[in-house]
Amino acid sequence: MHKRVPLYINGEFFESKTDNWMDVTNPANGEKLSEVPFTTMDEMEMAVRAAKEAFQEWKNVPISERVRYFFKYQQLLKDNQDEIAKVLCQENGKNFEDGKGDVWRGIEVVEHACTAATHLMGETMENVARKIDSYSITQPLGVCAGITPFNFPAMIPLWMYPLAIVSGNTFILKPSEQDPLTPTMMTELFDQAGFPKGLLNVVHGGKEQVDFILEHKDIKAVSFVGSVPVGRHIYETGCKNMKRVQAFAGAKNHMVVMPDANKGQVINALAAASCGAAGQRCMAISVAVMVGESKAWIPEIKDKMATLTPGIWSEESSDYGPLISAKAKERVEMLISEGERDGAKILLDGRNYKVEGLEGHFVGPTLIDGATTEMSVYKEEIFGPVLVVLHAKDMDEALEIINNNPYGNGTSIYTSSGAAARKYQNEVAVGQVGINIPIPVPLPFFSFTGWRGSFYGDTHAYGKQAFKFYTETKTITSRWFEDEHAGPLNMTIRLK
Ligand code: NAD
Repeated sequence: MHKRVPLYINGEFFESKTDNWMDVTNPANGEKLSEVPFTTMDEMEMAVRAAKEAFQEWKNVPISERVRYFFKYQQLLKDNQDEIAKVLCQENGKNFEDGKGDVWRGIEVVEHACTAATHLMGETMENVARKIDSYSITQPLGVCAGITPFNFPAMIPLWMYPLAIVSGNTFILKPSEQDPLTPTMMTELFDQAGFPKGLLNVVHGGKEQVDFILEHKDIKAVSFVGSVPVGRHIYETGCKNMKRVQAFAGAKNHMVVMPDANKGQVINALAAASCGAAGQRCMAISVAVMVGESKAWIPEIKDKMATLTPGIWSEESSDYGPLISAKAKERVEMLISEGERDGAKILLDGRNYKVEGLEGHFVGPTLIDGATTEMSVYKEEIFGPVLVVLHAKDMDEALEIINNNPYGNGTSIYTSSGAAARKYQNEVAVGQVGINIPIPVPLPFFSFTGWRGSFYGDTHAYGKQAFKFYTETKTITSRWFEDEHAGPLNMTIRLK
């Protein structure tokens, strides 16, 4: 019997009483790794109660003490980076380099949590009126929750609970049911770091557990990362229940290739950014917009993509891994077929791809030319190793395509012209912009956002800005008396 995924509530790991369990498998070979519970509603309630009680103490713990726990936690995560990555690769399918990168990007957020004191400071102004001073303080919200996707099982949970908890909140994490072993391992290290009980509570499941979170009156804020339909549901339901919500959603990221770009860099960047991690990145490049004569490079892009070989994480030769599930593979292949049916040309076809000796959900690198902006292969987020090529006569036409796309997560331009780069960064309506960089994911001391359908809710999301998401500001105005018995802040009694 495989060890089942435990719940973590009030500082204890234990098995759920549910009779609803789902297999956790290695998507490269179908091997069963564990079983994940769909947490019962009583257990969900226990998690909220534990978080609510723990908040009463934790909110008054001095910031330097709170941060000290996180110094310890980041060291434990670093010491175990490779071990976490191995578990991650087995349940998610990423190759080892990508798995380590996933953990590392999360560790950087924990390091950022260690700088909380300066971000949580208030402001002061003396003499807002004669002998009256004002100052503001930031205070935590209470119980916060996070709902995370399968594609970054280390980094994305770490976007959330460290920043919420260091700000004085307590947290309920509901990670993806498809790869729950990575967050469980990170929770074990959280436990080892010696944090007080009840600060982090980890529950598992799907829609029913998420809806419980969205409707519970004691949960004040919800962070979500995942697909567009679920993101909209989280935003609408969370707001209806008067919660603070931030929902990072799907993407369709374009790379503009100007004819003056460095051809070798373009080819490498397009192959890696479209197929890396099997295209299962919200910042993957899924559309290349070839401007003018750069279209002559398409055959070489195809040749480069054709050299990429998917495989299992433990083989160094694997450029990328399988898709997360049979359903995901079926959907990617269906969208490629729809493109073909609609008249696009499949220059490189990854459908029905077989990796010798493995029964996993592999899709080969796929390159599609001749698509229009009306086709589903362009409009839908494919989330697979598929690059769609569009053509534009100049940058203005490229900008029009991109700014009319329903998503606005990431984009990139390759050019050797400073003027073109400046125009692009100024006019493109997208959250993260790369100039000669294919996947411009910011470090946590910047913010990560998304425009249009890629992001709903409170814009104080991720990194530096997240301290604002997880706190309220209180402004205090204080009158000073000259009476020696009054005490410096004794204002309420004498105010008329
Ligand atoms: P998903 O939306 O299927 O699942 C995300 C979370 O929501 C999971 O925890 C899941 O259990 C839960 N969930 C699923 N269906 C639900 C429902 N009907 N009601 C309530 N909760 C539900 O997403 P996924 O497939 O795990 O992740 C891939 C998606 O995430 C892609 O669309 C990708 O672009 C997006 N993503 C976005 C970002 C970003 O920063 N914008 C980052 C990573 C991933």
